[in-house]
Amino acid sequence: MKLQIYTKILSSLFKSLGAIKANVKERRPLPKDDVSEDDPIAEENEKVIVNKPTEQEFVWHDLKNVPRTKERGESKGDRDWKNITGITIHQTACQFGNNPQRVLNVPVHGVTLSDGSIVLLHKPTDYMYHAGALNKTDIGIELSCNVPGVEGVAETFWLPKKYKHLKGEERLARASLPTEKQLEATKRLIKYYVDEVAENGGKIKYIHAHRQSSKSRVADPGEQIWKAVGEWAVEELGLDPHYGWTKGGLPLPDVWTGKANGVRYSSKYDGRLKK
Ligand SMILES: [Zn+2]
Repeated sequence: MKLQIYTKILSSLFKSLGAIKANVKERRPLPKDDVSEDDPIAEENEKVIVNKPTEQEFVWHDLKNVPRTKERGESKGDRDWKNITGITIHQTACQFGNNPQRVLNVPVHGVTLSDGSIVLLHKPTDYMYHAGALNKTDIGIELSCNVPGVEGVAETFWLPKKYKHLKGEERLARASLPTEKQLEATKRLIKYYVDEVAENGGKIKYIHAHRQSSKSRVADPGEQIWKAVGEWAVEELGLDPHYGWTKGGLPLPDVWTGKANGVRYSSKYDGRLKK
């Protein structure tokens, strides 16, 4: 997996190098021997090379206008920009791989994949069934991965029933954790939606976990994702996570938020922090 990511970064770096070379030629046609190390234009482009790859690492796939192949992937109606007030974070609880087409029927607005790809599936104004009572107000983002509710705790790791016999390390071995790049891509997608809603006259004020609107989705999106992405949105974007609050689900547990709010993870696992 890591090798693939590095290969991708390298190939995009070479692509951008190629693009910059072509650009230099266009701007100032020079005989080959005239291009020296201390050429001011080459120097200026050096800086571009440093900045470019980070932008190009994240590939955005716009599938908003691609017809769905299953009904569950279709929008259930429209809503006004003014009614969009939050973003709900999810984990898919299965690994879709890096082909954007494979998430086409996931009923949510945007998805991030392991290689850091960002897939746009629906407009924020499309009404999607992704988070029960939060469907009305929230944009849904899924991270394609399968991660335990609490890091390293096998009992908090959801797997299909056929894996019921797997315990401890054997169970955890089936996890497919989000990559660093995917977590970074998810932050970009959150920021993108905050900006897009603002540009259209609305305002995103809240960041939620699917857990908050579903008693059965205890581990959705899980400690690792919430810490990296949810708490980031609280700190960096000033979004309100509604600590202690639910809309038909369970409140954000202390073990995710790092705050002593007196909220257990579940009846099986405590994880409360001392005040
Ligand atoms: Zn979910």
